[in-house]
Parts: sequence; C-alpha cells; structure tokens
Amino acid sequence: MRLDCKHVWPYLSEFIDDSVSPEERRAIELHLEHCEICSAILDSLHNILVLTADDRVFHLPVGYSDRLHARIEAEMNRAALPGDDARDVDDGSSDE
Ligand SMILES: [Zn+2]
Repeated sequence: MRLDCKHVWPYLSEFIDDSVSPEERRAIELHLEHCEICSAILDSLHNILVLTADDRVFHLPVGYSDRLHARIEAEMNRAALPGDDARDVDDGSSDE
C-alpha cells in the first residue's frame, strides 16, 4: 500500500490521535519517511495539538488556522497538478 501526499493529509490528524488502523499507520509512516512536505505538515499539526493541549493558555494569532488551512489546500492543489512534483516545493516564503 503506497500513498500519495494528498491521500496522507486527510489521515494526519487521526494519525496523531492514534485512531488510524495499523495498516493505515504503517502506510503513513512509510510515506512520512521519504516525504518532507507531509513530515512538515505533521510537525505543524502536532505542535498545534501540543500547544492547545497544554494547561497553559495559548493565544494563537487570529486567522492562524485559516492560514494553515489555506496553506494545506494550496499545497494539495499544487500536488494535484499534473506533471508537478509535489516534493519540489520551496519553503513558502515567496507567496506572501
Ligand atoms: Zn507526502
């Protein structure tokens, strides 16, 4: 079972919650081993969960999750373009 980025993303929050099946987990882990984009997204999601799960109160900047969502959607759209290598994405300072 081999996954593309756009197949991995819908599973990432469940992956963090440990609510994916063992097969899905293995496939996602395999993908993460060689995919910087998904690893970065997983890191971001994980950081947010750690922050929001913390006892202390954190105030995320207004619009933070909207921007994260927009970013993920932009990456998904880019990854969905035919002939475009999803892994060949720069670190994103150019589109702001
Ligand atoms: Zn990926």
